[in-house]
Amino acid sequence: MARRAGSGGSDADVIVVGAGPAGSTAAAYLARAGLDVLLLEKSTFPREKVCGDGLTPRGVKQLIDLGIDTSVEAGWLHNRGLRVVGGGVTIELPWPDLASFPPYGAVRTRLDFDEMLARHAEKAGARLHEQNTVTEAITDERSGRVLGVKGKHGPDKQPMQYRAPLTLACDGVSARLALSLGMDKRADRPMGVAVRRYYTSPRTHDDFLESHLELWDHTIPEQPRLLPGYGWIFGMGDGTSNVGLGILSTSTAYGKTDYRALLRSWLDSTPPEWGFREGNAAGKIAGAALPMGFNRTPHYRNGLLLVGDAGGMVNSFNGEGIAYAMQSARFAAECTVQALARPEGLAREHALRRYPAALRQELGGYFRLGNGFSRLIAHPAVMRAATRHGLPRPTLMRFLLKLLANLYDSREGDAMDRVITAMTRLTPSV
Ligand SMILES: Cc1cc2nc3c(=O)[nH]c(=O)nc-3n(C[C@H](O)[C@H](O)[C@H](O)COP(=O)(O)OP(=O)(O)OC[C@H]3O[C@@H](n4cnc5c(N)ncnc54)[C@H](O)[C@@H]3O)c2cc1C
Repeated sequence: MARRAGSGGSDADVIVVGAGPAGSTAAAYLARAGLDVLLLEKSTFPREKVCGDGLTPRGVKQLIDLGIDTSVEAGWLHNRGLRVVGGGVTIELPWPDLASFPPYGAVRTRLDFDEMLARHAEKAGARLHEQNTVTEAITDERSGRVLGVKGKHGPDKQPMQYRAPLTLACDGVSARLALSLGMDKRADRPMGVAVRRYYTSPRTHDDFLESHLELWDHTIPEQPRLLPGYGWIFGMGDGTSNVGLGILSTSTAYGKTDYRALLRSWLDSTPPEWGFREGNAAGKIAGAALPMGFNRTPHYRNGLLLVGDAGGMVNSFNGEGIAYAMQSARFAAECTVQALARPEGLAREHALRRYPAALRQELGGYFRLGNGFSRLIAHPAVMRAATRHGLPRPTLMRFLLKLLANLYDSREGDAMDRVITAMTRLTPSV
């Protein structure tokens, strides 16, 4: 049994800030290892999170590792692969058959998904405190070490503060905790922006995730523009589809485009029978930023670990973030458990430095490739050429699916897997 809370004036062994996929996953692993975990969340569940709600097999693997029932009976809509539409071609790419990942992806609203994960963490023993907004880190004046967090709690925003030997920042793209320590996002790494809306649609039971590579801006009808980014249509299985689009910061359209108008104009160009028209809209268009390719570092410093979006862990190839939030949470929890079993000082720091090292080792080369890719496709001509010449070639597309979704076996895979493994190993980590 690991060390218990309360010793040395601490309120817990570990404070986890934010109960999204990163925070709830980390809290569950930490509590299971016997640590006293305080999970602070600013909102109250159930709450919405702007997202595409789509999980590739990489995300499903993380859920399985955590012990979540991912069966259809447990309320998941499974998908069999990715349908890619562009250049007048539609191609269905089943998820690859791999040793490392299940053969299915899944969809679930974040309204449901995030609450389920938070309750899972609670069941594992974590103490979830909702309506607790963390505003800053408490630090040691001399060493700068993070001693805990401060903020406000409850409807009347009473001041609160908690102390613990280690803190995990899982507060998403806003990264308020890291920012309170001056840890800004890096300008040399990509960002994305994405908007989405739910529509009542006959496509709700689609068992493929659908991605539209040709995003035309029809805001000026006589001058349609091809934009670097992609649109998605994910059936939710509940009568609605989650429809949205994302654009990369590497493109000139970033920050200069009315994304909501773009979504409407794209959807107006889809067949009316799909139902993506104003009268069928369920709720408003909502948007948020996607921090990509390790855009906030270092991932460990002075008693603070950055996990998930707070550490910029969205895949810049495809905009997927849930799987990486959960994977980084598992690494962070493992290193924290090992660290807290050691005396304070060098031995403990040694265990904690393993966290950024594990991230670099597992994801660094791949994320660097993704960052390069995001710069490349920012050029509409490259995007056009890729769509025109790539889509009609099924073998190339199967390879691209593995690469873009990070779905390959790094050991004992097929020829494509071996090429991707070599590419990620030869590329220096970000
Ligand atoms: C439009 C859009 C579509 C997307 N589609 C997909 C998709 O289909 N699949 C996919 O895998 N990824 C997708 N992503 C990315 C994905 O949403 C994120 O990568 C993922 O949610 C990251 O998880 P997280 O736990 O790190 O952060 P979050 O999910 O943002 O969770 C952070 C948590 O911290 C809480 N919090 C924030 N600040 C504080 C504070 N100061 N104090 C206390 N609590 C706080 C928040 O309320 C929240 O509960 C999409 C993103 C966007 C914007």
